[in-house]
Amino acid sequence: MSKKPTKAKVTILGSGTSHGIPMIGCNCDVCNSDDSRDCRTRPSIFVELAGSRILVDTSPELRLQCVAHGVDRVDGVLFTHHHADHVAGLDDLRRFNYLMGGSVRLYATEKTRNSVERMFVYAFDPNMHYPSSKPNLEWQIIDDEPFFVSEASVIPIVLMHGPLPIRGYRFGDIAYCTDCNEIPPASMERLQGLDVLILDALRITPHPTHFNLEKAIEVAAEVGAKRTIFTHLAHEIKHDRIEADLPEGMKLAFDGMVVE
Ligand SMILES: [Zn+2]
Ligand SMILES: [Zn+2]
Ligand SMILES: [Zn+2]
Repeated sequence: MSKKPTKAKVTILGSGTSHGIPMIGCNCDVCNSDDSRDCRTRPSIFVELAGSRILVDTSPELRLQCVAHGVDRVDGVLFTHHHADHVAGLDDLRRFNYLMGGSVRLYATEKTRNSVERMFVYAFDPNMHYPSSKPNLEWQIIDDEPFFVSEASVIPIVLMHGPLPIRGYRFGDIAYCTDCNEIPPASMERLQGLDVLILDALRITPHPTHFNLEKAIEVAAEVGAKRTIFTHLAHEIKHDRIEADLPEGMKLAFDGMVVE
């Protein structure tokens, strides 16, 4: 085992749902809110663990998120799944190619890899001669076994996102479980003894592929982490109003929130 510190530090780069908040053309009180915590970019986190810097997903606002939080090095990018709100910023990884003088390693299941390669064909097809700079990326395929990003140990957590199995990730005593409406029993076991669980809680109204807040609170109580932070938030969630009524130990994420 590494002698470097094993406590993870997580920065929530984006706490919003796939539309982002404010949404285009919406005049509701959350989309018009003056509270900066109600302004949400698409879902992503940045993890510092055992000397490694890890990005989870490449949201459409990846550039803005990295600039806002001074992210200038990435040792690995972990993908949860291939939906556009989690991958559309992939091309921005070119900056890390320049900054670090080499390729960026991507970690994903085979299924996610195949989908991302179809979405960004110019970046991955060696026969496609792209007349400008394209991201220099290499894959490491993961499944259910724990793996390392440099010296940081990562445990994948299978989550159900409607019919789609996706991956959450555990970094030491912090776990990130976005985009899910069910946690299988074997994954519940991998979430035991957590300090912090970061969990999908899309909105108040039920949804076929995401936990709504009521269900997320129930599942969070079952997991029993010391603290739970709800993320992937839609515009039904007004930060101050909803957070005031959450059970003890549960909070709402906001862009730039740091969890240690
Ligand atoms: Zn709205
Ligand atoms: Zn999704
Ligand atoms: Zn999503």
